[in-house]
Amino acid sequence: MISAPDSKQRKKVNALLISATTNPGQKSLEHAHEMIIDTFETAKRILLINFASLSEKRDSYAKRMRTEFSKIGAGYDMYSLHECAFSECADAVNAADGFYVSGGNTFLLLKELYDRNLVGLIQKRALAGTPYIGSSAGSNIGGEVIGATNDFPLVDIPTRRSLGLLGAVYNPHHPDPASDKTQFDARQWKIGEFVAHNRDQAVLGVTNPGMLRIRGDKVYLAGAGAAAFIHRNEDRFVVHSTLEDLGPSL
Ligand code: ASP
Repeated sequence: MISAPDSKQRKKVNALLISATTNPGQKSLEHAHEMIIDTFETAKRILLINFASLSEKRDSYAKRMRTEFSKIGAGYDMYSLHECAFSECADAVNAADGFYVSGGNTFLLLKELYDRNLVGLIQKRALAGTPYIGSSAGSNIGGEVIGATNDFPLVDIPTRRSLGLLGAVYNPHHPDPASDKTQFDARQWKIGEFVAHNRDQAVLGVTNPGMLRIRGDKVYLAGAGAAAFIHRNEDRFVVHSTLEDLGPSL
């Protein structure tokens, strides 16, 4: 059974949890280019994990991601886990310099990883410092559990436990009250119920331009115009700054 790492075990984490692959008004991943480069550093052999996509869409998605990454920088060599046989998956994870876990349906993503017995292995490598970038569903599984995904449970999963690279639960695509107060209120209510029931878990809701940059236990909000809404028990914070370490609030 996978367990949530403590802050000592997270000391080497180098991760980026992007809220949305496409920030409205920009091209796919455009808003995250700089942070992707910052996170991957010299990592070039990138394992794409696109199990959040429906199986019939995975080939075309991988093709599109390879094109996207060629725009981000030279030399990225992206190979995709969906092209590996079950027996080859652990080797594919072990051979990666970095992980890119794309969006879609979070339940499907986590199930496919549990089916291949890979959650513990990816967690182990990411805790050892292998860069991990998630987008949307890929960010959800960077949290301790997939407790605040917006997705329908398309499939059953053995457990909601996920990688725990962030010492909290992630909620992507959090509405911004300036543009949609009704959706904002509805989401805040849902997250409020989650934290009232799970008193030991914080939830971080991140608006579409935003992404969490994680270095060990330090967590920063990046992304122009982004906001993060933090809930823990009765406490609520909103953060706009990219400079403040959110770690102590989690
Ligand atoms: N469906 C989202 C995604 O794009 C995940 C979520 O909203 O929880 O991956």
